[in-house]
Amino acid sequence: MNSSSKNSNKHIKLFLPGPTEVREEILQAQTAWMIGHRMPECADLIGRIEPKLKKVFRTVHRVYISASSGTGMWEGASRNLVRKRVLHCTNGSFGDRWIDVSKANGKEVDVIDVEWGKPVLPEMIVERLSGGGFDALAFVHNETSVGITNPVREIAAAVRALPGGEDITIMVDSVSGLGGAQLEMDEWDLDLVLTSSQKTFALPPGLAFAGVSQRAFEKAKTIPNRGYYFDFITLEKYLVKNQTPATPAVSLLYAMDVQLDAMLAETMEGRWERHMAMRNQTMTWAHSRGFGYLAAEKFASPTVSTVTNTHEISVGELNDFLRERGMILSNGYGALKNKTFRIGHMGDWKPADIAELLENVDAFLALKGIPFAE
Ligand SMILES: *Cc1c(COP(=O)(O)O)cnc(C)c1O
Repeated sequence: MNSSSKNSNKHIKLFLPGPTEVREEILQAQTAWMIGHRMPECADLIGRIEPKLKKVFRTVHRVYISASSGTGMWEGASRNLVRKRVLHCTNGSFGDRWIDVSKANGKEVDVIDVEWGKPVLPEMIVERLSGGGFDALAFVHNETSVGITNPVREIAAAVRALPGGEDITIMVDSVSGLGGAQLEMDEWDLDLVLTSSQKTFALPPGLAFAGVSQRAFEKAKTIPNRGYYFDFITLEKYLVKNQTPATPAVSLLYAMDVQLDAMLAETMEGRWERHMAMRNQTMTWAHSRGFGYLAAEKFASPTVSTVTNTHEISVGELNDFLRERGMILSNGYGALKNKTFRIGHMGDWKPADIAELLENVDAFLALKGIPFAE
């Protein structure tokens, strides 16, 4: 990919866990002529996008589109779907932040706080929910800060099996999961799934999406103070006309339309497989170089690997070295900074691209005199 003809900035390949690399064709799609959002052309555009989005979300219900990042949909979810008290589970920084969002919106919050690097498990949730008093559950599918995929299917099944479990609104943040790690909104009986454009969808930042079940939509109607910008009832009123209440990010929707075609042509199953292959490739490489890997294999994320920095290399220096070669990876998050580094293998990257990155990391290790087999 060479975008020097179009852009004045240098192309640096993003092996980050978001924002991710955007293909040239998708960047180009954004340059189509502008249209008014009440013109039929815009309704046609949203009318093309919506059924494709539902296929990606694996839902027959609805997917709201907002001109915001995923954080906006956190607010929308907490505001529209929590009547009183929500159980939040967290095992990383994004789980933590969603807790802050629920609190900032005046909801009563209880927390299951799991050690970073470990998964959120159904039995922890079942125990807390059994006490009663909760009308919603919120957790992250793929915790980007640690590279852990929480077992959404098992959690949802365990919740639904509880007495009154059908009445718990299950809300899942799949910002760095959906489109790369398997997620089945309807089959797994999830009430809300939210994501952003700039992670696994490999689009520029600026769009957020929320799949909302019929049961959740009916609940939202009965919740007061849903706010304004992310009010699901208003979003629904416009979505049925293939519109959005406020001006949408039209250029991003052009890009989205093209990218969704590519995603569905690959098939969701194909994408899950490709992401899993890149994860296995990264995990195998880490072990063979004497590094650790934060996640146990069973919960290791298909979209982002957290490598334990057992050689105590300078991640800053590594990234300076990689930048010179036109690519970049990510340092560890928060307390894990320098103790780990993260490789985003999500979006449209292929195993050959990951191999190129890892060869360059190898070159850095060789330069530092770090021995490795192979
Ligand atoms: C990036 C990320 C977010 C935040 O999304 P924004 O689009 O930056 O607002 C939330 N949750 C997870 C799991 C993420 O990876």
